Amino acid sequence: MDYQALLDEVVDAVQPHMGHGRAAQYIPALASVDVDRFGMAVADVDGEVAGVGDWQVPFSVQSVSKVFSLALVLARDGEDIWRRVGREPSGNPFNSLVQLEYENGIPRNPFINAGALVITDRLLSLTEDPSGTVLEFLREESGNRSVAIDEEVAASETAHGDRNAALAHFMASYGNFDNPVPTVLDHYSRQCSIAMSCRDLALAGGFLARHGLRADGTRLLAGREAKRVNAVMLTCGTYDAAGDFAYRVGLPGKSGVGGGIIAVVPGRCTVCVWSPGLDARGNSVAGTAALDAFTTLTGWSVF
Ligand code: GLU
Repeated sequence: MDYQALLDEVVDAVQPHMGHGRAAQYIPALASVDVDRFGMAVADVDGEVAGVGDWQVPFSVQSVSKVFSLALVLARDGEDIWRRVGREPSGNPFNSLVQLEYENGIPRNPFINAGALVITDRLLSLTEDPSGTVLEFLREESGNRSVAIDEEVAASETAHGDRNAALAHFMASYGNFDNPVPTVLDHYSRQCSIAMSCRDLALAGGFLARHGLRADGTRLLAGREAKRVNAVMLTCGTYDAAGDFAYRVGLPGKSGVGGGIIAVVPGRCTVCVWSPGLDARGNSVAGTAALDAFTTLTGWSVF
């Protein structure tokens, strides 16, 4: 497959969507990012990587980080975590509080904010430094030691984190938290504030396409666990638009409000696309259109 030619075709197909949508407004440090940016990278299972546009420009990974924290908990703890968090789509916005009360403090899935906070709480118990553990994993898998936390974004998130604090305290009141809420919130914000490029993220997500094998050939997850992470991405990875994403793209994917999306073609490659203009649900407009074009051109949807 000539990935470079493919990516050039994708960019042509996406032109009508470029610059559409709005950058996330509720985290001030993200609101000023230029919505005309667009980058895309494909890393195949052998670690070959090709890219187009702003594919080497770091952006705020935000909720894309939740795939990695989940994988790191599963790698250390196996399936125990599913007693504390579900794996069904929520059908509600990613930072919604209402469902948590009906469901006794058990979040629907690990990719909404409440679920990701539970994952961070568990990773804190397992490692003492969850954001540092995620960061180190991303550096190792991407081969880029300069991947780092954007301190301005982290401070901005913390200053505007009342909603996440409410979710965390609410879960703590149900006994679904083992560590102090402020410590978990701090690590969660820092993990979301990691800045890295499409190139780095496509490489870092390679274990999902390699059925659990890391870049150096060692095993992070058993094949069945990698299958499960991909399944949760497919059903819950793109906010309350996961059905529409499956309809258009047909791959496991995880988006973030920074405008990044990673998508996995199991056995073949991991794709990362970034464009900061978001639709009403929080998914990148041009990014989703690019992945739609990618699977349409290649026939590599899982369906
Ligand atoms: N840090 C963001 C938050 O907690 C992540 C949101 C997202 O990317 O979905 O609201």
